[in-house]
Amino acid sequence: AQSWELVKEQIKFDKDGLVPAIVQDAATKDVLMMAYMNGESLQRSMESGETWFWSRSRGELWHKGGTSGNTQKIVSARYDCDGDTLLFLVKPAGPACHTGETTCFYRGFASPAPASAESGTDAAPSGSRFAVLEELEQIIAEREKERPEGAYTTYLFDKGIDKILKKVGEETAETIIAAKNKDNAELRLEVSDLIYHLLVLLQERKLPLDDIMAELERRHERPRRD
Ligand code: AMP
Ligand code: ZN
Ligand code: ZN
Repeated sequence: AQSWELVKEQIKFDKDGLVPAIVQDAATKDVLMMAYMNGESLQRSMESGETWFWSRSRGELWHKGGTSGNTQKIVSARYDCDGDTLLFLVKPAGPACHTGETTCFYRGFASPAPASAESGTDAAPSGSRFAVLEELEQIIAEREKERPEGAYTTYLFDKGIDKILKKVGEETAETIIAAKNKDNAELRLEVSDLIYHLLVLLQERKLPLDDIMAELERRHERPRRD
């Protein structure tokens, strides 16, 4: 790595004196967050070995973790080809996001249709954001048939319907608690657990997910076009 003194000259700050800085977990390679640095915050980061940014909304220097304790120890620092973006590999002391999520990029959105996809046809929405539900249904059906040792799904089917119903009840209660606590990080986990256990229940009862989807569509008055 080049010396910080030499590199400093090569970094291109924008007209507001800022440069975007991407923060990545050095161990897991998770992209944790993006924030802006000015000369002063970059200087402080290099001197202290922890990330400092410039908060555009608050108009002040900001030591990441200064209030939350979730500081980021800098393992290595990089800058890109044209010097207009920084990358910091860090060892985080806790979640990077102020929501409590490990990474700020915890929300996904629909993957774009593949460029080769034919348009105009009523193709099955396998690239849709709910495709994972179909895959999960498939995997659960496989587990029920093959009962691979050590799989949690195998354990549920071995125990039978009462165990599955008990889990659905527990996950429902935990979903309610997370929602009451206004803790969306927790709610995300609990709703995921609940949906998974509901899918196991549907498999146990041999009620296809398609029947549920059809029922939902029937209740939805407008005929579907897309
Ligand atoms: P912290 O730097 O973790 O002590 O958090 C102090 C404040 O900085 C929070 O209340 C947020 O306003 C802001 N903040 C912390 N982490 C982030 C982040 N990853 N992205 C944007 N703002 C953040
Ligand atoms: Zn660049
Ligand atoms: Zn965030």
